[in-house]
Amino acid sequence: MKIINDIMSKIENETNTVCRTLVNQIMRLHLCDPDGNSFSRIMSIREYNEQLGNGVYTAQVEYQRQYCYTDVKGGNGHPWQRRLMGSLITFQSLDYIWVNDINGESHIIDGGQRSRTIRGWFTNCIRLPRGLVYKFKGKNLELGGKNWSEVKDYYPEFSEHWLENYQIDFKVFMNYTNEECSVIFTKLNTVNSMSKPEYRNSIWSDMATFIRELSDFENKENKTLDIFHGKQIEETEPGKFRGIRHGIKFGKRGFDDFVSKISYLTINPLKVTGNKVLEEWYRNEREGTGSFKKFKKKIKQNLKWINDLILNEKDNQTRSSLLGLPEIQFLFNVKTHLERTYEFKTTNGLQLIEFWRNTITLLKTKDWFVDYNGDKTPFKTCLSSLSSGRDTEIEDWTSIVSDHFVEKYNNWKKDSTEIEVGFKLLDKSRTIKKSVKEQVLVEQDFKCEYYDWCGNRVTMSSPGDHSETSHTDGGSSSDVDNCDMTCEDCNGEKGPMEKKYYKLVVEQKIKDRDGEK
Ligand SMILES: [Zn+2]
Repeated sequence: MKIINDIMSKIENETNTVCRTLVNQIMRLHLCDPDGNSFSRIMSIREYNEQLGNGVYTAQVEYQRQYCYTDVKGGNGHPWQRRLMGSLITFQSLDYIWVNDINGESHIIDGGQRSRTIRGWFTNCIRLPRGLVYKFKGKNLELGGKNWSEVKDYYPEFSEHWLENYQIDFKVFMNYTNEECSVIFTKLNTVNSMSKPEYRNSIWSDMATFIRELSDFENKENKTLDIFHGKQIEETEPGKFRGIRHGIKFGKRGFDDFVSKISYLTINPLKVTGNKVLEEWYRNEREGTGSFKKFKKKIKQNLKWINDLILNEKDNQTRSSLLGLPEIQFLFNVKTHLERTYEFKTTNGLQLIEFWRNTITLLKTKDWFVDYNGDKTPFKTCLSSLSSGRDTEIEDWTSIVSDHFVEKYNNWKKDSTEIEVGFKLLDKSRTIKKSVKEQVLVEQDFKCEYYDWCGNRVTMSSPGDHSETSHTDGGSSSDVDNCDMTCEDCNGEKGPMEKKYYKLVVEQKIKDRDGEK
């Protein structure tokens, strides 16, 4: 075709950069999808490094996985990174990097680890695999063991050639939403190659963001739980971290896994936390049919309770006996179970941890968990079945351990020489008398104290709440005037907050809600 011959002769002496610009324009304008929102792009590795350096291309987006490696100047890099750079420098092609062009930035949908590794290479944090040799213009280049500066020093001509001629291929989308990107990310990363928590994280929603922020050890916005951040974690080898006061696993988004399970259990008390139910829960949240928003505050309270408890752990506790995910999850279930009957108050975090640790040892030595058929379940199995057992089993096991807690607490109350338990069980039903509840119900017309917000009705089994002011005034907390009946939702959201403050919160919520309409 003549036109092609014309173009080819015109660009005969042009640089690769000009050729690439031409090809990119053709792909952008002519070889795109019907809407013009999706097309291919090519770039030299030099250009790509510059774009990464100035932040135009960024992997810091929500549906991305956490970067697995720690780049250290002058270091060797992780074997995976070394192999990757070994194939790039020898002109083997890389899979597509998928990006979303939005507001002048290119958000990397897939290829974040590769891109950050490329940055690590150009900042001399990675060395090429040992023994790597590449033939260039008839000469054998000894590239093995060298980092970028050394390759440039030894082989300047080759370096320049590589920078100019090694090309990265992109699939580009224009202005896709986070949801659309996360769908693409999920499609590209099959369930098999990602850990379950990694996969769940890509099911984008406000809740997924909330969970990721709380567990993100790299987070700079101060949202991370203390136990996963800063002084509370240590690096065991490059890129691998662990908690100092807990045994929750770090790899494959183990911290996320922990946060998501406690969140799930707040909404679904004493349930099994299998991958299937958690995944479905994430999907419901994405589709807007979940109840995360309603429980957000309660979830935060529960995570704070665990966080504060763990911070009481001893500095020198042997690692093997630090509480890990199953032990903490089980304890949380016990607390949830006890709170159906009592108000659970931690009085001494370390004592509670010690008590729980001793209880675990005790439970492991005896046949505590015997079902109706006389079948025994070792406690180890109970711990490992929190995600794979049946809901009824969780309920049974938890109630057995809860009874033990009650017994030990009562012993301690009777006899101060008994072992310390670190918690108190306050009787809920005694705080507000039945007759008082009845009167208050009638006065409130069987509506929740915060009915304007929640629209819920209340019954005798609803929680009673007494305003704190009654104590300071010296009045009894069981006076009708000082009591409110609230629905479960409001009671949970209010938590220990004083009524006068919570009223303000509710007023604001109502304003926000009605303002939106
Ligand atoms: Zn209510």
